[in-house]
Amino acid sequence: MLFHEMEASSIASGIREGEFTAKDVVVDCLARMRALEPVLNALITPLSENALAKAVGIDAAVSSGKDPGSLCGVPVVIKDNMCARGVRTTCGSRILGDWKPPYDATVVDLLEKAGAVVIGKSNMDEFAMGSSTEHSAFGPTSNPRDTDRVPGGSSGGSAASVAAGYAPIALGSDTGGSIRQPAAFCGIHGLKPTYGLVSRWGLVAFASSLDQIGPFARSVSDIALVMDTIARYDPRDSTCRPGDRPGYRESIKAPTVRGKRVGIVREFQGGSLDPDLGRSIENTASMLASSGAEIVDVSLPESAAYGLPCYYIIAPAEASSNLARFDGVRYGLREDAADLITQFIRTRSKGFGEEVQRRILTGTFALSSGYYDAYYLLALKVRRRICVEFADAFEAADVILMPATPSLPFRKGELIDDPISMYMSDVFTLPVNLAGLPGMTVSTGMNDSGLPLSVQLVAPRWEDSRLLEFAAVIEAWAGRPGVASGGVL
Ligand code: GLN
Repeated sequence: MLFHEMEASSIASGIREGEFTAKDVVVDCLARMRALEPVLNALITPLSENALAKAVGIDAAVSSGKDPGSLCGVPVVIKDNMCARGVRTTCGSRILGDWKPPYDATVVDLLEKAGAVVIGKSNMDEFAMGSSTEHSAFGPTSNPRDTDRVPGGSSGGSAASVAAGYAPIALGSDTGGSIRQPAAFCGIHGLKPTYGLVSRWGLVAFASSLDQIGPFARSVSDIALVMDTIARYDPRDSTCRPGDRPGYRESIKAPTVRGKRVGIVREFQGGSLDPDLGRSIENTASMLASSGAEIVDVSLPESAAYGLPCYYIIAPAEASSNLARFDGVRYGLREDAADLITQFIRTRSKGFGEEVQRRILTGTFALSSGYYDAYYLLALKVRRRICVEFADAFEAADVILMPATPSLPFRKGELIDDPISMYMSDVFTLPVNLAGLPGMTVSTGMNDSGLPLSVQLVAPRWEDSRLLEFAAVIEAWAGRPGVASGGVL
């Protein structure tokens, strides 16, 4: 059986009901991974042996009548900025050396408690800064739909793993688009939950007021399944919202858009948007209209004009502070020197790549005395206005339908020397982080050249289940994304 093409929910139920074993599934997914990794480089640390041992343990539990949980024997891939106890966690950087965290991130713990089997830690742009997974100290990842192209970033390894069938689900982190943009580039679904819905405990911080963990999958129901597992209150993350979460699988049992208002953002249509992606929005909107939704116009002028510069002040400012801890004393790499200051300089110059150094310099500058008011404080004010304009838009619409990315996946090397163009890749995703809203990339098939098409859905805070309901209707029309072979198999 081709387990690597199956949904997580079917894998879990098949194992629980004794139709096949967790070992069968893991062996198949690991074979897939071994065949494609030489081309894709989606993983920094494959965990084949741990995964096999875990699968055998799950099979033993099932045969002794126990129920390991809703993700029983499901292979998962975790982005390498989330801690897994005893497993090297690199953040795609040299500076952490082979640092092994002594604890699990809350999300990793929750997945494993539900019976999931972690098969690898995925490749990423260093410290999640980038949109192509080319800024990794472990080499670039290729897009399994077209290996000459980038998989997007920064969670490119997680997205590529799911698109290629290493695992039906993966976790990524999204600070400005790092789940939604690679999901769009790899032709799968990806959800950035509302800020505060999923615990960030054990996620190495990039920009703490923007970072959020979320799932990739090839089906909406698997996205819902992961959300039912990881969206929990966690007292160890002070920004995690207390209280229960709705049942996400429950919300897609009988999905309907009848009577709902769908907002199309005037400023985001046309312009430099790829025409195929523009058509994808239009076709999706007509389908939703013929399914009983009302299409309305909404306007997000501040997000369109100032979202990008606002993000590129706030995110680097927070990063410059968060990354100060990597000093050659507490973690990983250390370049010894006669005095401490020289040691810091040498360690950080050698340990951090060019893009991370660029962000630290920009962020430190924006926070420095004399520039704080002109840059950082102003960016905070703009952020507030972006929150308000989204709130206004949600007076007129229940859900916003907009592009996830301005372009189709670009070629490797194409934007590497052009940071501003690389930053532009997240122009439609980062306003959603600035406002703390849930956003989801939904795959809408392929264009005539076989490149992935998508749309992005955005909802008010805590209405993640509304996104899933819309996504389920879109998926029923556009079809579920299949696995890609990277042209290798
Ligand atoms: N590409 C954006 C950046 O480089 C977003 C990254 C992310 O969401 N982690 O900052």
